Amino acid sequence: MKLNFSKSLERVHLLLMLMSVLGVFAFLLFSNTLEFQDTVFTRLFPKPPSQAASSSETVRELTNQLLQTAKELKDKPDKKQEVEVKLVGIAQQRKAAMLAATTDDPNLFLQNALSKKIRDRLPKAVAQFVEEEVSVRGEPSVIIGDDFEHGRSETTYGLGAYTVYFTRENTSAFFTENRIELSGFALDSILVADPNRIKNLPQQVLARQTGSTERKVAVQLINFTDNTSRLDREGNPITVDNVREKLFSTVASATPSANTYYLENSMDKVAFTGTVFDWQQIDTTSASCTLADIFNWAKLANEKNNVNQRDYDHMVYVFPQIPSCNQFANAQGDYITPRGTTPRVWLYGSNIPFTYIHELGHNLGFAHAGLIQCSSKAIEWSGTTIPCPKDYEGDLFDIMGYRSKDIIGGFFPHMNAPHKDKAGWINVRSIKRNVDFVDLIPIESPSSGTHALSIPIGQSPRIIDYYFVEYRQPIGFDNHVRVR
Ligand SMILES: [Zn+2]
Repeated sequence: MKLNFSKSLERVHLLLMLMSVLGVFAFLLFSNTLEFQDTVFTRLFPKPPSQAASSSETVRELTNQLLQTAKELKDKPDKKQEVEVKLVGIAQQRKAAMLAATTDDPNLFLQNALSKKIRDRLPKAVAQFVEEEVSVRGEPSVIIGDDFEHGRSETTYGLGAYTVYFTRENTSAFFTENRIELSGFALDSILVADPNRIKNLPQQVLARQTGSTERKVAVQLINFTDNTSRLDREGNPITVDNVREKLFSTVASATPSANTYYLENSMDKVAFTGTVFDWQQIDTTSASCTLADIFNWAKLANEKNNVNQRDYDHMVYVFPQIPSCNQFANAQGDYITPRGTTPRVWLYGSNIPFTYIHELGHNLGFAHAGLIQCSSKAIEWSGTTIPCPKDYEGDLFDIMGYRSKDIIGGFFPHMNAPHKDKAGWINVRSIKRNVDFVDLIPIESPSSGTHALSIPIGQSPRIIDYYFVEYRQPIGFDNHVRVR
């Protein structure tokens, strides 16, 4: 395809108009990176805050009540028992409000957190409901939750067994190859902390070094003492053989395996192989599904099957549907290269090629692919916003969007240009200005040539992000492009 650029076309939105005239796209696809706090993505699309269950007055009021009542312990030694009972009641109420604040308003949580000195003076029966100042060392992890049914996703930070909520948006220090130490306040399995307090430890996290294209996966089929099902969400049996086929099949067909999909997408740079371990029951229940729980299930499964993470590039845990898990799947993002422990995937009753491909995509460092729909209007970045409807996971033309799976018969689109560029699978030409003609070859084509253009938004040295132009053809797994 030949794109014609007039020399006067310096403004990106005009270029994008041209694209739509050419029938390339009438919408813009975007890909957010996980360090999204610093990218145009979040500035454009701040997700609405969750419904605040913790009003700041409630938290402050209960904290004051707790401190005032604690004083009575000293002032009224004769009523010690009575005061203590009252204190426990307040501490329990306050704990509920503080737990709500961890997600709604982590700053409110930290502002009201009680220091070690104060906590230590409280009776044990009371202190157990009060947050604790801690310093946690461990390997940072980022977990993505996918709820394909409701089109919702969420990103969670993990450190050790803690789910971490940060008080500031810039969490880039969390994305490191090192083990870290983080000080903050812990309540149950939640840690609230200021990302400025992240300290890198000298010890690097050891990852399996993969030199070849082949990525080795350990797949474990796992159920629980209270949930012994071996079926998927549709009631079909999950077996070693059908899992192996969906992940590792080398046979080219209209329905891909993770292996054939990635081989084609990566131009033979990524292949999947590995072992599927048959059903095992781990000695715990599936009653709750926190980060600490899913990490524990992974640990118990590894012990049961005698699997050492260091021998694999990916760990995939396949469970039956678990009512306490709101997601179809969780996946660990592997956002820094080379990075961290072996990335993991947890699947809750989902045993279809789409889910394997999508979740392994998170492991490989791909975030969700979204959609901005401006219909006949030009897509214009005004410096603060693009005033068109946005859909966070709505990119039809990327397996890292959600929509392709809903198309009848399934659709396994190639990944979009930003993703393929990030992975180093395609040739991208950077366009600054004054270009007349550029020849693009289809993004699916393994031949040499330019697969995509990248156009900076903003001017050096303040480039905010990039627009990409790509050219799709009904080739291989993109065969459906024609009918869409
Ligand atoms: Zn996802």
